[in-house]
Amino acid sequence: MMRGASEWGLLQTIAAVVCPSSVQKKHKQHQRPSMIDTHCHFDFSPFREAPDQYWQDARESGVTRMVVPSVSSLNWDTVIHLTTQFAGLYAGLGLHPCFLEQHPDNSLDALTRRLDKRPRTCVAVGEAGLDFVAADTAPQQARQQALLEGQLWLARHYGLPIILHSRKAHNQLLQMVKAFPGVRGVLHAFSGSEQQGKQFIDVGLMLGVGGTVTYPRANKTRRAIAQLPLEHLVLETDAPDMPLAGFQGKPNTPAQVSRVADAVSCLKSCDRDHLVFETSGNAERMFGFN
Ligand SMILES: [Zn+2]
Repeated sequence: MMRGASEWGLLQTIAAVVCPSSVQKKHKQHQRPSMIDTHCHFDFSPFREAPDQYWQDARESGVTRMVVPSVSSLNWDTVIHLTTQFAGLYAGLGLHPCFLEQHPDNSLDALTRRLDKRPRTCVAVGEAGLDFVAADTAPQQARQQALLEGQLWLARHYGLPIILHSRKAHNQLLQMVKAFPGVRGVLHAFSGSEQQGKQFIDVGLMLGVGGTVTYPRANKTRRAIAQLPLEHLVLETDAPDMPLAGFQGKPNTPAQVSRVADAVSCLKSCDRDHLVFETSGNAERMFGFN
């Protein structure tokens, strides 16, 4: 059922007033279910300077697993190494659309060879996708599309989910995913309308929900997340990027996924533990952690 605009306004007001204390109370009552940060660039600064400390902080906040996507062949070794250093970390191997200069012509062949010999901690292809802000010329966009097409093919070939990035390219990305029926994955850092969210869900994708929903001005995305079905949502931070509201100017961290869970449970007017349990289950089924 669609909610009317006035009802939505009322819900938001109630959530703003009721949520903070009720969320805190639930934290204290019993053991909290474990959270999964499905998108964290843990090989980037500041994490690479003190990974033990940041992973400990994340664990203390209730995070038990984290997926670390790579951006180019230059950091594949690093992200795989992190997964051998810290139990609970998993990697994605891919070619990020914003790092075109790091993808030589044989990149897809190199990725294929790497995926052929992947360790069990490599659970996804990615980060892949389209970014028409970073690529504003036709040749750059064509290159991004060719790399994405190759990675969609590889994801389906290896039966791995694909981690997708999309900026100012939702429709083009949607058409490309549609051309690969059976492909699974996640559109990370979803922002958009309920209708756009449904379109991604309809082609077999999960939606990665991050810090965007903590900003009151992100009304369209907050409203979409409130309405979209929980069985298609996973939580993420995109740390060190995308700081949450109130934390602008500081690097984002995986421990903040806890605050994302607070915000989403308020938006959906659902019990926080239930939200974490369901979204963690979605992530476990998608990535098949073992
Ligand atoms: Zn990313």
